Amino acid sequence: MSQKFVNSQGTRCSSLLDALLTTNSRQRVSLITTGFACLFMAFCILAMELVAAAGLADRQWVRWWSFASGACVLISFALIRSGVTRDWHDPAFTSVQMLYAITSNAAAYVIAGMARGITPPILAAIMMFAVFGLKPKQIKGLMFYGLFAYGAAAVVVQWGLPGEPMPASLAAVYLLIVTMVLTMTAALGLHANAMRVRLQVQKSELAEAVQHIHELATHDELTGLPNRRYMQDMLRLEEMRARHSGQPLLVAQFDLDFFKAINDSHGHAAGDQVLQNFAGQVAAYVRGSDIWARWGGEEFVLLMVNTSQDDGAQLLESVRARIAATPAVLSSGIHVPYTVSIGAALLEEGESAVTLLERTDAALYEAKHRGRNRVEWARQKPVPGLAPARSKFSPARPDDWAGCTTHSSYLQTRP
Ligand code: GH3
Ligand code: MG
Ligand code: MG
Repeated sequence: MSQKFVNSQGTRCSSLLDALLTTNSRQRVSLITTGFACLFMAFCILAMELVAAAGLADRQWVRWWSFASGACVLISFALIRSGVTRDWHDPAFTSVQMLYAITSNAAAYVIAGMARGITPPILAAIMMFAVFGLKPKQIKGLMFYGLFAYGAAAVVVQWGLPGEPMPASLAAVYLLIVTMVLTMTAALGLHANAMRVRLQVQKSELAEAVQHIHELATHDELTGLPNRRYMQDMLRLEEMRARHSGQPLLVAQFDLDFFKAINDSHGHAAGDQVLQNFAGQVAAYVRGSDIWARWGGEEFVLLMVNTSQDDGAQLLESVRARIAATPAVLSSGIHVPYTVSIGAALLEEGESAVTLLERTDAALYEAKHRGRNRVEWARQKPVPGLAPARSKFSPARPDDWAGCTTHSSYLQTRP
């Protein structure tokens, strides 16, 4: 019961706040800051009214000053709340608000009479609004404007007001305090700005580092292709998608033929270049929606979404023929002919990505067994309860990726 009460109060409170401050985050931040400025101005007006009530300042002048100062902050709040300024660079037009706050403060210095000593600390509080919200140029501009406004106010106080002028030494003290307030707050603002810039640089460096780490974790350094880990995630994802959409999903495993011999005859570095050449050649056939990854060593996997067996067969045959017809050209200028064996399978109804890969693995075995440089298609998913016909590949658990290596059965049984 009491929970319900708290909830309904809380909801009403937050909807009232939303009505006043809106739900747009930029606009809300500006309205909160300007709300504080309104509150601050209300205190200043109260202080000035008390000064007038004490007979230290002209009541009529204080009334005008209160009206003008209060109107300025309220109009600012209304403008921001209306949304007119929402797309401005600074929706709170902080520097403009600061300009009239300083002007109002300098005017208060003129009309506060004997109590004008209260205005420099108020100026310090006003400058605090600038410290965290303005750019260095704007902060410096405000500092000079403050010096100018107080200079003008001091001239009016000394020579523009009726009656006895203030002792010159006292006027000098006030000016000194104002200069100190303005320079110190400006220095603080510049320091806060430098810290903010440093933080932003660190933040973007961190984001870059995270991006780089992600790249390293999901991509293969030699070929630049997505790696096995990434492909495993994508296989799971695409398997789920295909199950929901009913669109065909095709997976092919590639294994370079007699690659060890290439390494033995031309060296490991040459072998690396052949791998890069192969990765690049196949990439030219791959559509944006497909995923082409290095599975490990000289083994690769291609995942083709929404692809029929006919289209897939055509593409894989083109790739095989292209690789067989195009030797890799090493940086030394040597041409290295090579071929690739491919095992492919289409996801069957209710089949998991792991079983699909098992079947492409068996098909790859078949391609190697039948003489290499060929594409073989997987047989249908084995009937539950019956052992797979040829591949000896059978992970301990059906979803155990660790046990899932390509044409592992072939590697165990080949001559
Ligand atoms: P098959 O036709 O039966 O596949 O014969 P193969 O020689 O390709 O098979 P095997 O798996 O015995 O050899 C693969 C070789 O690939 C062995 C390994 O040294 C080499 N290899 C694995 N990763 C790399 C690599 O990053 N760079 C190079 N240059 N060689 C690699
Ligand atoms: Mg291999
Ligand atoms: Mg091989």
